Amino acid sequence: MQAYCHSLTQYKRLKTREVRIGDLLLGNNHPIRLQTMTTTDTMDTLATVEQSIRCIEAGAELVRITAPSKKEAENLLHIKNELRKRGYNTPLVADIHFTPNAAEIAARIVEKVRVNPGNYVDKKKFELIEYTDADYAEEIERIQEKFTPLVRICKEHGTAMRIGTNHGSLSDRIMSRYGDTPMGMVESAMEFLRIARYESYHNIVLSMKASNPQVMVQAYRLLIQQMDAEFGECYPLHLGVTEAGDGEDGRVKSAAGIGTLLEDGIGDTVRVSLTEDPEFEIPVCRDLVKRYTAKERTTQHIPVIEKITYNPFNYQRRESFEVANIGGKQVPVVIADLSKAGKIAPATLERVGYSYDAVTDKWNISDTAADYIFTGDQLLDFALPGTLKVIVYPQIWKQAKDQEKYCPIDDINGYLNNPDRSKTLNFVMIDCYNDGTIPPAAQLQELAADKTVVLCLSSTNDHAMPSVRRMFVELQEQKIQNPVVLIVDSNWQTTDEHLIHYATEAGALLLDGFGDGVCFGMTGKSYEQAASVSSDTSGRNYVSNTSVEQFVNATAFSILQATRTRISKTEYISCPSCGRTLFDLQETTAKIRSVTNHLKGVKIAIMGCIVNGPGEMADADFGYVGSGVGKITLYKGKEVVKRNVESEVAVEELINILRENGAWVEPAS
Ligand code: SF4
Repeated sequence: MQAYCHSLTQYKRLKTREVRIGDLLLGNNHPIRLQTMTTTDTMDTLATVEQSIRCIEAGAELVRITAPSKKEAENLLHIKNELRKRGYNTPLVADIHFTPNAAEIAARIVEKVRVNPGNYVDKKKFELIEYTDADYAEEIERIQEKFTPLVRICKEHGTAMRIGTNHGSLSDRIMSRYGDTPMGMVESAMEFLRIARYESYHNIVLSMKASNPQVMVQAYRLLIQQMDAEFGECYPLHLGVTEAGDGEDGRVKSAAGIGTLLEDGIGDTVRVSLTEDPEFEIPVCRDLVKRYTAKERTTQHIPVIEKITYNPFNYQRRESFEVANIGGKQVPVVIADLSKAGKIAPATLERVGYSYDAVTDKWNISDTAADYIFTGDQLLDFALPGTLKVIVYPQIWKQAKDQEKYCPIDDINGYLNNPDRSKTLNFVMIDCYNDGTIPPAAQLQELAADKTVVLCLSSTNDHAMPSVRRMFVELQEQKIQNPVVLIVDSNWQTTDEHLIHYATEAGALLLDGFGDGVCFGMTGKSYEQAASVSSDTSGRNYVSNTSVEQFVNATAFSILQATRTRISKTEYISCPSCGRTLFDLQETTAKIRSVTNHLKGVKIAIMGCIVNGPGEMADADFGYVGSGVGKITLYKGKEVVKRNVESEVAVEELINILRENGAWVEPAS
């Protein structure tokens, strides 16, 4: 074990215990299982059966169904019987919050139950209580008393269990002692796991979900370390980012969190939780997982990391000096690759956030405007907007009239052998461990001493992200502090594949504090395909009606936002909905998004039910939570501001609350 995984440089799945869920085996190197959760009312047997079938047909290997009370838990029997009658033997999972009696019924019916240790025994009051060690021990005894019956039922019936911690719903006890930290999440699960082990019950899967991928990744890593230290073994892990939202943002957030862990061989089952119909989650799960099927055969060598030079459990940005607006304390920059866009005119820049108004002769610059464009061998024949700069090859840069607006990019040998350099900003590309090697230390030190150099790191090694991460360790060991731009090219085909690729390869590094900028591109064939298709095979399409460049630029900003390294737009935390949801969550999310998507940096939660919603809103600034049929309760942080507002006027009321709290600005006309 290296810190929290088998190896930081060689892909290998983390060894976990084998768990049986009906006929499905999970963990212990079995394939990574795909799963989702129904959104229908559990009392509507037919609707739940039919939705489950759509999920199974899409590829779900486990289907979770909410059981908020005894009656829904009992109805799981009818759902299960109907599915089996129709020939579907996929294991079912009962989702439990607050109701041990429902769990004890469900555990006798379905193949697996999920309990949330934050609310299985505890009722959350958001109280900060001082616990003495004796009080704390008494609480643990109380948990043991309430949880042990379920463990014994599961053991007797061969039922599996997920101990599923959520960052947003930690108990008051855990919050009082650990705060809402990754360590608090780990301890919350460990309390339950110790009780299960005491009963010699091991058919257990664990999860550590959060809507913030940074917190989620750290919690899983800490949990592995803790299990290994305490038990000398690990239980299988269910990976997910909660309340990820919908569309592009939901996919990016999920991929940044889940993909980061999968890269290190962590994860035995995945659920991508999107505010969309559950069957649409499965192709995204599959796209995430299929990237690893051949990884263990990778032969390209990356040198072992002897000593980890950064903290994988606590975010800290790598120290770098500033070159122009890159590095130091500056937010990561976005470089848009326009080198395949043909002849660039002012209108071309609209794709990357700059729109030219010929009447006023002014540029409008959006919050997601690229900071630099890379044009390769093209100089532009019009005046550039604002602070935008253009990156070109060295021989082209020499021809530029304004050498401040243009900057050269070259590989390391080209740069070191070329006396013609910019006095302020030079980009130097390094392909990390392509053939198992990197440039010699003498060359790297020459760059380190050059305060105009920004490094552009990429890797053509099959195991690309760990190669670049290994290079960062090398830079830290050699005390090289030039800022670094992460270059990621995608040769995938569909929109979701590209999104997942960028979010995993760059997201994993950004979450560890690496990277002062990003530049995403597509290889020639992928670019041509993306530019020509009107939709991809999943029916999703960010490319047509826009352009490849617009899609890639938007994705870059979404990844920076998901990794919390640069906030450029409104953040939505919306639950995927389930049988508890009391309104059309997809439609409502779209409606709220349409009127608030100009509120940069404001975090708005849209949650389906009052039972779990407030607890799971995590660090949202404002909340819109279903509290009854046609009723919405509005929150500022965790505090109720308006209770049971009629849903017809709830969005308007939300805007009023935003206004009263200084978070509202009028949208540009
Ligand atoms: S918050 Fe959403 S997903 Fe969670 S229990 Fe409530 S309705 Fe279901």
